[in-house]
Amino acid sequence: MTFDVHAFRDLDPGQRILMGPGPSDVHPRVLQALASPCIGHLDPTFLSIMDETQQLLRFLFQTEHPLTIPVSGTGSAGMEACFVNLVEPGDEVAVCVNGVFGTRMADIVNRLGGKLIRVDAEWGRAVDPDAVRKAVQDRNPKILAVVHAETSTGACTPLEDLSRIAKDCGALFLVDMVTSLAGMDVALDRMGVDAAYSGTQKCISCPPGLSPVSFSSAAMEALKHREGPVVSWYLDMSMVSSYWGAERKYHHTAPVNMIYALREALRLIAEEGLEARFERHRRNHRALVAGLEAMGFSMLVPENERLPMLNTVRIPDGADDVKVRKALLSDYGIEIGGGLGDLAGKVWRVGLMGHASCRKNVVLFLSALEGILRAQGVQVKPDAIEAAAAVYAQG
Ligand SMILES: *Cc1c(COP(=O)(O)O)cnc(C)c1O
Repeated sequence: MTFDVHAFRDLDPGQRILMGPGPSDVHPRVLQALASPCIGHLDPTFLSIMDETQQLLRFLFQTEHPLTIPVSGTGSAGMEACFVNLVEPGDEVAVCVNGVFGTRMADIVNRLGGKLIRVDAEWGRAVDPDAVRKAVQDRNPKILAVVHAETSTGACTPLEDLSRIAKDCGALFLVDMVTSLAGMDVALDRMGVDAAYSGTQKCISCPPGLSPVSFSSAAMEALKHREGPVVSWYLDMSMVSSYWGAERKYHHTAPVNMIYALREALRLIAEEGLEARFERHRRNHRALVAGLEAMGFSMLVPENERLPMLNTVRIPDGADDVKVRKALLSDYGIEIGGGLGDLAGKVWRVGLMGHASCRKNVVLFLSALEGILRAQGVQVKPDAIEAAAAVYAQG
């Protein structure tokens, strides 16, 4: 067999409009930062870039937590980092499950030998605080964990009530903010969150590869008072925090260029301002939903439980799920997501995350979808663009 190097062409992924569950569109400034020269991870210039990245992350998480850093790895690494550091065999851990990512949390707790208190909620709905309170009463959970923004369903679970329940039973409050961070308010300190993790490729609009993680003093105390060592060497936050802290103790090599990219993405967020950014996400979400409903489609999640950055719409009768998504991608370069688990073939997941949450994308998507469905013989009412425009006209 001969090996022909010329069979491997120049890399050319093409341009897409990323309106799925992540990654989202990356701003050109972030791509440019990514292409900056790679320097040593202990170079004084890089050390100050690490410091600035931590400052920007604390701004985004709205926190004074002692540890707020990007874990090297995707959102799932952040999830694992939180549990592996805070759970020891035999610890009771309450996990709310209302979608795919909640089931993953439960899986991790079981793998760590934790005693799982699983609180299930309907997929497509927020978690009911009363059900959680009932499940943890007379128990002694070390952690109460919830997914703030369930990307698999588009449901948002408000954090305030659950935070109070966690405090009342003396548990640490652990929150998945992979999809919510940078798209809606997730003020860690105000909301009493002890451990949070996110991902760079959703509303931060950076490529995938880093997982912002934040631990409160209480979480750091719990880590310090573990009986045994953290079973993951790579994700041991006591070592990772010495690497990111003043000592700069070598633990692993930070992915230098990804840190550049994250720093630039965070700088863009700070320039826009958090409240302006959240309002932009809400507005484009309202316009998209208005358009979809005008076409005659219905959303999976009740109005007051919907996420602004991930919209789950029921696939209309007669539409071919895969064919529609293929046509969106090949004819318009638009990526959206299909349903997961029981929702496969039943819903589309339309992301409006970070840089991709804009009027241009909303209107293009609505008109592209309308055209594709008509071509497939699906009945579509004609007023989507007007309905979206009416939302934007509200000023
Ligand atoms: C995307 C996502 C994850 C997993 O992140 P990866 O970057 O894919 O590892 C976890 N939780 C939620 C809510 C997500 O949306």
